[in-house]
Amino acid sequence: MERTLSIIKPDGVGRGLTGEVIKRLENSKMKIIAMKMLKMTEKQAQGFYAVHKERPFFDSLTNFMSSGPVVVMVLEGENVILKYRDLMGATNYKEAEEGTIRRDFATDIEKNVVHGSDSQESSDSEIGYFFNSFEIVN
Ligand code: UDP
Ligand code: MG
Repeated sequence: MERTLSIIKPDGVGRGLTGEVIKRLENSKMKIIAMKMLKMTEKQAQGFYAVHKERPFFDSLTNFMSSGPVVVMVLEGENVILKYRDLMGATNYKEAEEGTIRRDFATDIEKNVVHGSDSQESSDSEIGYFFNSFEIVN
């Protein structure tokens, strides 16, 4: 069993896509074992995306990610890291497969509605960034 971190980004929450995203991941048999809504400070967003701190889009991204509430979830399932990445679609929505969340709803390479961990390592550290063991139900 794997776990992954999912975030519905400020554009997704702000546009009323929370229910739509949750419906899609429940329909795909990904189990939600933790969930909360929060608004990151710019510092918290910078910490979360620290791996990207040298990238040209870092300031804009962390400003965006701290611009409004997000919904953070832990998903559990077999092969869920990759399965959820597939459900999200490519980073650039223009390259994302049809029927993916990003293809259907993203408006911009930055404002692409959802985040998902990209590996076991990042999933472990990203889940730990937002949740303690008492907040994860299984
Ligand atoms: N991003 C961006 N411009 C880029 C690449 C990425 O604004 O050229 C943003 C986008 O919101 C993306 C996030 O930075 O989701 C993290 O980038 P990453 O390459 O990790 O993409 P992801 O894992 O989210 O698909
Ligand atoms: Mg990533």
